[in-house]
Amino acid sequence: MKSPVHRCRDVEHGRGQVGNGAGLSCLQSEQHIPIPKDVITSYSASAMWFIRDACGIVCAIITWLLVFYAEFVVLFVLLVPSKSLTYSIVNGTLFNSLAFLALASHLRAMCTDPGAVPKGNATKEYIESLQLKPGQVVYKCPKCSSIKPDRAHHCSVCKRCIRKMDHHCPWVNNCVGENNQKYFVLFTMYIALVSLHALVMVVFHFLNCFEEDWTLCSSFSPPVTVILLILLCFEGLLFLIFTSVMFGTQVHSICTDETGIERLKGETGQWEKVPCWEAMQKAFGGPFSLTWCSPFAGLSCKNSPVEHVSVPQGEIIEEDVIEIPLT
Ligand SMILES: [Zn+2]
Ligand SMILES: [Zn+2]
Repeated sequence: MKSPVHRCRDVEHGRGQVGNGAGLSCLQSEQHIPIPKDVITSYSASAMWFIRDACGIVCAIITWLLVFYAEFVVLFVLLVPSKSLTYSIVNGTLFNSLAFLALASHLRAMCTDPGAVPKGNATKEYIESLQLKPGQVVYKCPKCSSIKPDRAHHCSVCKRCIRKMDHHCPWVNNCVGENNQKYFVLFTMYIALVSLHALVMVVFHFLNCFEEDWTLCSSFSPPVTVILLILLCFEGLLFLIFTSVMFGTQVHSICTDETGIERLKGETGQWEKVPCWEAMQKAFGGPFSLTWCSPFAGLSCKNSPVEHVSVPQGEIIEEDVIEIPLT
């Protein structure tokens, strides 16, 4: 249970809508009843989600260029000059499939609404429509004027409150949250696998070519071949380490039902934890099957289907802690 001080930490004290004031709301924090998630939902699933952040867009483009660089070196230095057609076809198919799945996961992670709370919905009309019980407390985000559901955090890059926000990742130019965590996990997994595969092929290439004439081993001159391969090794190692660590961290986050932000802010243990396997099924959209590994399978089996609520227009309430009177 949050301490009153803790509970007040991320809210600004307003004037108190109904006479009690924000301070009293904090003292009575044990009366806080979480608002059901289906009451406050995303509304943007119909439109394509894309964050217009220059740094994120540059990072996302760099990610794609690095994958294309690896694709070029693997094809034209490692596979095309190879004497064994079977070796080239098997490795070419595997490498291209992994690279394709990595890029598809990247696109899905980037263009899926991570679980954004409708902006500016903290209006009198909307709060009245929630039909909250007496004594119930709701929190308003002072930055995007939205009613903040439990476990939502405000992202300053997305300029929105995101449900179960883990972190904002510039490499996918998006927040990693409740709705796109699966795609982010798949992205890290496929990049780790594609990097490992490239590294294994480079090692085989070096071993084979040391025994033979280097000019027969590549379509490029030996110095260019060596430089291309060293760069590929460097890229592969860096990405393998980085994405393996990210993959492990994300799976651990899902399993322990704690997001990165919650761990950082020390907010853990304030909600009923979902068991590991159940949390995995929720994050990956249903019982274990091959669709867990597919970036094309949606998260249709989630417990709380996303309803499309239009953003209400009206007078925005200034208070950050809004308490419904007891009488
Ligand atoms: Zn916010
Ligand atoms: Zn964000």
